[in-house]
Amino acid sequence: MPVLNRAAELQEEIAEWRRHIHTQPELLFAVEKTAAFVAEKLKSFGVDEIVTGIGKTGVVGLIKGKGPGRTIGMRADMDALPITEQTGKPWASTVPGMMHACGHDGHTAMLLGAAKYLAETRNFSGSVAVIFQPAEEGGGGGNEMVKDGMMERFGIQEVYGMHNMPGIPVGQFAIRQGPIMAATDEFKITIKGHGGHAAMPHLTIDPIVAGSQIVNSLQTIASRNADPLQSVVVSVTKFNAGFAHNIIPTEAVIAGTVRTLMPEMRDLAQKRLTEIAEGVAKAQGAVADVYYDRNYPVTFNHAEETQYAAAAAGEVAGSTNVNAEVAPVMGGEDFSYMLEARPGAFIFIGNGDTAGLHHPEYDFNDEIIPHGISYWVKLAEDRLAG
Ligand SMILES: [Zn+2]
Ligand SMILES: [Zn+2]
Repeated sequence: MPVLNRAAELQEEIAEWRRHIHTQPELLFAVEKTAAFVAEKLKSFGVDEIVTGIGKTGVVGLIKGKGPGRTIGMRADMDALPITEQTGKPWASTVPGMMHACGHDGHTAMLLGAAKYLAETRNFSGSVAVIFQPAEEGGGGGNEMVKDGMMERFGIQEVYGMHNMPGIPVGQFAIRQGPIMAATDEFKITIKGHGGHAAMPHLTIDPIVAGSQIVNSLQTIASRNADPLQSVVVSVTKFNAGFAHNIIPTEAVIAGTVRTLMPEMRDLAQKRLTEIAEGVAKAQGAVADVYYDRNYPVTFNHAEETQYAAAAAGEVAGSTNVNAEVAPVMGGEDFSYMLEARPGAFIFIGNGDTAGLHHPEYDFNDEIIPHGISYWVKLAEDRLAG
């Protein structure tokens, strides 16, 4: 079956909301305007319970069906990115240096559209919790909402998330069972040597040479330590040292990110990165201090819930337009914390041929709104069929 007629009717109104949110991007937990907009809309739909301030600035709306039953959670994210927008669109960001470059404006608008539909029709038994989280882009807002007791407070038994994906055609969905997005860890290696005159290197311990060898040796984690059939990314993204052409500095700092899909690989990468940094520095007479921070966990799709999500997407798009075995993405998602707390699934919805996520020319594609709303509605009505 195609998109719901009512969802198609709602498209223009929801696109207006989306563009309104787009004009006023907010970062991390400071999503007060967006959260207030969400809460006001939920109230206007007659949503039964609206709670703000969960996980600092998150919002949850509870929509009760026509009878008793289970409760499922459906989640969108509200925060933007510190990027200067270059779309030239009439609804472009009015806040310098900030923009909705990940489509969270669209996610929020689509979930509001689904909430409006579900509150109008209530063609299900049990309850739907619509979850609007802050700080997806690095702040762990999803984790904050879980830690704030959201799952228990609303009795949420299953939880679902959706993200738009440029490059996947409009009207198509993609999902996979198991890991769909990576664990995202950060590291910082401080190499302490002994500075001095650049013309007298024998009197120094050069942290730049030691650091260069560490950068090279870190490449062997993926090429020599990891099982070739497993995934690991080790990217050095910063190397800061020195300030003059004739001085060997005392210290060098290397930083970067590690991405993995399986817990064993995450453990292996952390262990080897530490051993390599410390060992290579020692071989040069230097000392490496390794700081390793485990950030977002793997976004792991549970088997049954992945099937429910794929089936709902198939009802909207036709099963041939749902790729149920999409390759995982090595980016991270803090919906992963909600999937650690409850079974559920995360799905990609095609954004068509747009600029990529986090690009200054990216814009959420309003054409996909009816598909997204229909997916949420089908999922709720199927999982809570009376
Ligand atoms: Zn993003
Ligand atoms: Zn995102």
